[in-house]
Amino acid sequence: MTKAPRLSIVVPLYNETLNIGLFFERLVPVLDGLGVEWEAVCVDDGSRDDTMAALLRLRENQPRIKILGLSRNFGKERALSAGLAHAGGDVVIPIDADLQHPPEVIPEMLAKWREGYDVVYAVRRRRTGQSWLGRVQAKAFYWLFDKLSEVPLPREVGDFRLLDRKVVEVINAMPERTRFMKGIFAWVGFRQTGVPYEQEERQHGTSRWQFMKLLGFAFDGLVAFSDYPLRVWALIGSIISGFAFFYIVVRLVRTMLYGIDVPGYESIIVTILFLGGVQLITLGILGHYLGRVFNEVKGRPLFIVRERHGFDEETPAAGPDRPIPTMVPRPR
Ligand code: UDP
Ligand code: MG
Repeated sequence: MTKAPRLSIVVPLYNETLNIGLFFERLVPVLDGLGVEWEAVCVDDGSRDDTMAALLRLRENQPRIKILGLSRNFGKERALSAGLAHAGGDVVIPIDADLQHPPEVIPEMLAKWREGYDVVYAVRRRRTGQSWLGRVQAKAFYWLFDKLSEVPLPREVGDFRLLDRKVVEVINAMPERTRFMKGIFAWVGFRQTGVPYEQEERQHGTSRWQFMKLLGFAFDGLVAFSDYPLRVWALIGSIISGFAFFYIVVRLVRTMLYGIDVPGYESIIVTILFLGGVQLITLGILGHYLGRVFNEVKGRPLFIVRERHGFDEETPAAGPDRPIPTMVPRPR
C-alpha cells in the first residue's frame, strides 16, 4: 500500500516558551524527512508567558505551523481535543512540547500506519525521573482501571500516538466533557499497535502533575469509564446486612440462654461508626457521579477559541469534504 498522507501534528502548550524553540528544531527536520505534506497544530492553552508570541515568531518562517489560542487554560486534555478538532491530516499525531516525546519515533509510527494500523501508540521503555510513590500509584491505577472498566489501558502509554483520520473523526464526535484521553483512545478500538521509545527528561520547567492532582485525574478516569464504584455498594451493603443478621441471631440466642449481660456498648458504637462511614463513602461516590452528570447536562463547550492563525475559515484546515471544526461538540 503506498499512500502519501497529509500529516497533522497536534501540540498542546501551556507556558512552554523555553521549550518550543528546541522542540521545533527537532521536530521540523523529522517531518521534512518524511516527504509528506504536514502541518503542526499548536494549541496555546491560555499560557501566561510568551508562548503565543514565540509561536507567532516561529510561524513567520514556517507557515506550516498553525496556531490556535484558547481563551483560558482548559487543561491538557481539552487543549488536545481542540487540536484534534482542528487537525486536517489523514494522520494525526498528538505530541508534548516538552521534548519528553522524541519526534524521531514518528517515522516508525507512520510505517506501522502504512501496514494498516489505525492507532499506533508510543510505549515508554523506561520511566526517568519518576519517584517510587509515582510508580506505585501508576501500578495501582492501571490495575484498578482494568478491573473496573470495559477496556484495558495499554501500559506505559501516554497521549503520544498516531491516529488515523477515521479515529480522529470518532473522537471529535464524542460529546463527553470529561476528556480522559487515554481512556477515550483505548475505548474507540480499531486496529491498534505500539512502538517503543525512550522517554526523556523534561527540558525546561516542571510537570504540572502533582500527587493530589494525579490522584484526582485517576479517579476522574475511573468514574468516566466505569459505573462499578456506583454499583459496588449494593454488594457491600448486602454483605454487611448479612453479617448484621447473623449477629442479631447470635445476640438473641445468647440473651435467651444467658439473659441480658449489661455492657454491649462497644458493639453498638462500632457498628454505628462503621455503617456511618460506609454511608458517607457511598454518598460521596454518588455525589461524584451526580457532579459528572451535572457537568455534562450543562452542555458547555469543551473549549473556547480566542484566536486562530493559519486556519482558513472558508476552506477549513479539515479539507473540503469536512465541515469547519466546531468548538462545541455536535449535538446528540
Ligand atoms: N499542557 C497544556 N495545558 C495544561 C498543562 C499542560 O496544554 O494545562 C501541555 C504542556 O505544555 C505539554 C503537555 O501538555 O506540552 C504535557 O504537559 P506536562 O509535561 O506538564 O505533563 P506530563 O509530561 O508530566 O504528563
Ligand atoms: Mg511532560
